Amino acid sequence: MKRVAILGSTGSIGRQTLEVIRSNTDKLTACALSCHHNVPLMLNQIEDLGVDTLISQSAIGACGLNTYEGEDALVRYAREGDYDVLVVAVVGIAGLLPTLAALERGKTVCLANKETLVCGGELVEKALSKGGLLLPIDSEHCAIHQCLKGNERTDIRRIILTASGGALRDMPIDKMASATKREVLAHPNWDMGDKITVDCATMVNKGFESIEARALFGVSLDNIQILVHRQSIVHSMVQFTDNTYMAQLAVPDMRLPIQYALLYPDRVTSLVQEVDFCREPLTFEEVDAARYPALGVVLDCAQKSSAQCVALNAADEVAVAAFLEGHIALGKIHTILRHTAARFDGSIRDVEDVMRIDREARLVAKEGLC
Ligand code: NDP
Ligand code: MG
Repeated sequence: MKRVAILGSTGSIGRQTLEVIRSNTDKLTACALSCHHNVPLMLNQIEDLGVDTLISQSAIGACGLNTYEGEDALVRYAREGDYDVLVVAVVGIAGLLPTLAALERGKTVCLANKETLVCGGELVEKALSKGGLLLPIDSEHCAIHQCLKGNERTDIRRIILTASGGALRDMPIDKMASATKREVLAHPNWDMGDKITVDCATMVNKGFESIEARALFGVSLDNIQILVHRQSIVHSMVQFTDNTYMAQLAVPDMRLPIQYALLYPDRVTSLVQEVDFCREPLTFEEVDAARYPALGVVLDCAQKSSAQCVALNAADEVAVAAFLEGHIALGKIHTILRHTAARFDGSIRDVEDVMRIDREARLVAKEGLC
């Protein structure tokens, strides 16, 4: 029986992780859950699943459970807790320290939180030398992981990340900069948290996923291609040196990559439906750069330095929150990203570097909101 701890159990990935655990009770048990604000939902989940440990940054009070409370609760749990697998499903840079702490103990981390690899790819690589295992939950990277089974990384010519195009893919370009929150959050294929749904509309998400793929699979950004694939059935592809392509296909349902990661290396029946190949043709298109200016900014800056990657992530967290609160237009996000990232340069030596650049970049990005 694998003991699974979930950081961010109240979110979209966290809730779907619990569904996967409920459908595999002979193999998986939830042992610890965390939330940020949604304490009532977390307490319901804890009662429902018989979880023994509660993790919370704010004080919840004694309730007959092991509790980890306070600002550093997530990282303390990752460092000391009694689990086999840590699912990191929080949003933002909050995922970095717990991921590093778990890997440094040689644990298995199932990582949904791509921000960890955007900000600390090199640190994660170093931590992995302690014998831990990192399994991506992000559907594209889970697809690539599967395509590489039985293949050599040295035989990769290119990674092809597929993109749905986000909620605004059919909106006239001149209307996109002033799209409303409701329009931006109406994703055609996936039901996800607000932050990543906004990142899909701007395609910052695909920029971050390119950095994530570079960190996970050792492929340079020049060898990562993004294609718009409106049906979200092909979750990504690997092109090998002989021009063979391997792809992973499935209906868009995050419970599948979550289950793959939790039960790796086993494959078992799942809650996910079959693909109906005759419903509509599978199509692939080039990305229209004019439609997604923020994607260009992320890829440009990510070529320059690790410091710029950290700054981009911080700026995006600030800018997306400001958009969701109605303070800025969607069209302002890419200017905030460019303006913030340009102020930083250099490599990352340690986690203190990451946290310092993150703090400083948030201040720069906030100035840019005005
Ligand atoms: P949600 O916003 O739905 O959930 C976020 C979770 O993290 C919630 O449990 C939330 O708690 C908690 N949380 C929020 N802020 C903090 C913080 N500062 N510190 C600690 N915990 C926090 O996000 P998603 O589930 O959509 O996404 C989670 C991660 O997975 C993101 O990194 C995203 O990019 C990635 N991902 C998501 C996919 C999806 O389909 N949703 C697909 C691929 C990747 P509370 O509910 O209490 O606020
Ligand atoms: Mg993805």
